[in-house]
Amino acid sequence: MDYEAVIGLETHVQLKTHSKMWCACPNAFGSDPNTNVCPICLGLPGVLPVANEEAMRLTVLTGLLLNCEIPRFAKFDRKNYFYPDSPKNYQVTQYDRPSTQTGWLDFEFKGAPTGLARVRITRAHLEEDVGKNNHFDRHSGVDFNRAGVPLLEIVSEPDLTSADMAYEYLNALKDVLMRAGVSDCDMEKGMVRCDVNVSVRPVGATKLGAKIEIKNMNSFSGVRRALEYEIPRQMEAVRRGEVLRQETRRWDDEGGITELMRTKEDAHDYRYFPEPDLMPFAPTDAWLEEVRARVPELPLQRKQRLIRDFGLPAGDAQVLTDNLALGRFFEAAATGFKNPKAVANWVINTLAARLAETGEEISALKLTPATVRELVELVDSGKISGKIAQEVFAECYASGATPSSVVESKGLSQVSDSGAIEALADQVIAANPGPAADFKAGKVAALNFLKGQLMKLSKGKANPGMAGEVLERKLRA
Ligand code: ADP
Ligand code: MG
Ligand code: ZN
Repeated sequence: MDYEAVIGLETHVQLKTHSKMWCACPNAFGSDPNTNVCPICLGLPGVLPVANEEAMRLTVLTGLLLNCEIPRFAKFDRKNYFYPDSPKNYQVTQYDRPSTQTGWLDFEFKGAPTGLARVRITRAHLEEDVGKNNHFDRHSGVDFNRAGVPLLEIVSEPDLTSADMAYEYLNALKDVLMRAGVSDCDMEKGMVRCDVNVSVRPVGATKLGAKIEIKNMNSFSGVRRALEYEIPRQMEAVRRGEVLRQETRRWDDEGGITELMRTKEDAHDYRYFPEPDLMPFAPTDAWLEEVRARVPELPLQRKQRLIRDFGLPAGDAQVLTDNLALGRFFEAAATGFKNPKAVANWVINTLAARLAETGEEISALKLTPATVRELVELVDSGKISGKIAQEVFAECYASGATPSSVVESKGLSQVSDSGAIEALADQVIAANPGPAADFKAGKVAALNFLKGQLMKLSKGKANPGMAGEVLERKLRA
């Protein structure tokens, strides 16, 4: 029998706020242990939390980015458990009334028939981070700097079907959150963490198999590798006739395997109850409108728009989406212009290479979008050759001059005057009797050599099409 994998992800993302969720301590990475703490985030008795409004905005913004419904009533709950990294012995989260629910994320995935995949989002709710245990030779310590940092938990429906698809989903989610400024999503700073839920079932079955949760992946590629290991493991087990049970497994990154952590019998009962120290969250129309105004054009939308509106190939559109500054420069040059593809070539190849060389920022450039447009016009109208255009570009880049003034002052106009080209052709034929004779004897390739000589003699300014024609006419005469 054939089996298929069913995967749902729970992704935790650190929100990009200045301060923590309930207090004024900085939300900062890399400080000395226990320096960004206060009685509130340490959970001392008698303190009262105050919700960070920006964190609430970023939560709702994420809901909008993920096409979620934003309920007019949400609340906070306590999830009770004991662990040394949790100073309060509970974590504040949103249990049955989250701030966002029932949305979806579309993303590019080669394995999908249309190239686009959709994963439904169950919810994105706000919670607080806990501290971090550090283990030393003979003792352990807890750093509470991260305690109380706002986290978003983004829960997907079990719509993913392969390790690669899970990987692409995570990357797309990250791109969206970074583009909207919700999170920096820096994996190395632990800003994105992900729990993977995976089961297998006979192809075509509708009932889900036993959910196995995997923890401890610290990168997206770790998630993919864990699934590449776990899916065949489960399939082989059920083929052997084993009955899988709900359990939690730990990914061992070095060993490349998952191992049992706990079974359902050891599952916590968190005894959720409403957080009595915080008001429910009831956003007003005006507040929601303010958040809605912060929704940016998302990467996939942008790429699709560049393809549609400018007729660009997907590869160009991707570059101009990934590099937003370059993309904006392109749009400024190409909007309303007849040859956007040529503008894209200049921006993606020549301009990007020059920026990489000099390390300059686009915003600090002397070269303007209008310059690139004018350059394309000069080439398209036959005023200068492509080769000369490179020289003009370099000059415009360095000085900020307009292309026409550079062409003028350096006398770079393409020579399309037939008299001048005839004279050059006569010179070239006289100076190269061997190749000229070769051509007359039927060696067609010799014409290219002679044409090259003519272009050289003209310092690249001769109209190449005319150069070839005139030479050929003279040689055949
Ligand atoms: P819990 O209450 O244990 O957190 P949920 O039902 O809320 O479990 O699901 C948590 C995550 O696991 C979600 O991302 C969901 O899509 C996924 N999930 C649930 N059941 C399965 C299953 N049988 N196989 C794979 N993933 C599943
Ligand atoms: Mg869960
Ligand atoms: Zn604090």
